[in-house]
Formats: sequence, C-alpha cells, structure tokens
Amino acid sequence: MSFNLPDLNYNYNALEPYFDAKTMEIHHSKHHTGYTNNLNNAIKGTKYENMSIEEILKSPDLPFGIRNNGGGFYNHSLFWKILTPNGGGEPSKQLLEQINIDFGSFENMKMEFNKAAATRFGSGWAWLCVNNKKLNICSTANQDNPLMEGQCGGTPILGLDVWEHAYYLNYQNRRPEYIEAFWNLINWDIVEKSY
Ligand code: MN
Repeated sequence: MSFNLPDLNYNYNALEPYFDAKTMEIHHSKHHTGYTNNLNNAIKGTKYENMSIEEILKSPDLPFGIRNNGGGFYNHSLFWKILTPNGGGEPSKQLLEQINIDFGSFENMKMEFNKAAATRFGSGWAWLCVNNKKLNICSTANQDNPLMEGQCGGTPILGLDVWEHAYYLNYQNRRPEYIEAFWNLINWDIVEKSY
C-alpha cells in the first residue's frame, strides 16, 4: 500500500488574505508531496507497508524516517481538511459544550491554543485533541503527533502548523499574527465531525 497526496478542497489562493497563495502552493505541492513520497519509500518492504497511517504513528520505536515523514503526511492531511475559505466563528452544539466544560469558554480555549502555538520553540504543531470525549491542548516538535508514543495523547481534531515554511513568506517572524489569522479559516463543521 502507498499513501497519496490528498487534493485540497479549495484553490491555493482561496485562503487569502490569511494564508497566501504562494505559501499554500509550496506547502502542499512541495513540502507535503515530499513527506508523502519519503514515507512511501521508507515503508517499502517493511512491516509498516500494510498498516494505516494511524497504526504506523502509534507503533512503538518508529524508525526516524517513518516518524518524520509519517507525521508530516498525517499532520498536513489533517491541516488542509480543517481549513476553508469561509471559516471561522465558533463550533456549534456538542463540541462547544465540551469546550465550555474543559476550558471554561471558547475564548479560554483559543487563548490556550494560541499559547501552545506561540511557545512551541522551533518547528512543530499545536493541537486540540480528544480523549474519551474530553478535550486537551498541546504542542509537539517537528512532525511529531499526539498519536505517537510518549506524546501528549488523544486524537487530534484541530492542528496548526507552526513551522516557518507555513508562514514566513507572508508573516516573516510574526508567528502570532499567523496564529491569529488561522482562526478565520477553521472549518468547524469538519472539526466537529471528527470530534
Ligand atoms: Mn508544514
């Protein structure tokens, strides 16, 4: 089995002005393509070849190349899915209720997520995860993922890429502005579905 680069449900320029077209194009067609191809090469002929991506990420003692590229493949696939040109606002129903239970309010959850994204030193991701209905926020380094051994646990339902390749063309060193822009693009219907 090999993994395929997922198509986007929108054009590269559809997320402007928040995420610029050039960044989206390079990010999807170069970075994500690279992770996908490298993952396929790394699992070829190994026991990981017939596993789902989730099974791969949850495997103990993942070889370095599979860990980095498997994470890169999964993380970006999730990232594109939870973005939409007409995003933003707040989730409805069940998910918002759980956010209120676990964080006190939507605003508190957003603050905690922003802090996780802003304080991740170097490259990595910020996550909103679900674990037996309960929500938690964390960040991971590099292309690591909450599903991996020794990470923060839970299944990610919302993720933000804070590698410089995700924002540097448009925001340079202003990561907090990029993080704030992200909230205008979130497809809460999709996040809610995976919750
Ligand atoms: Mn990326």
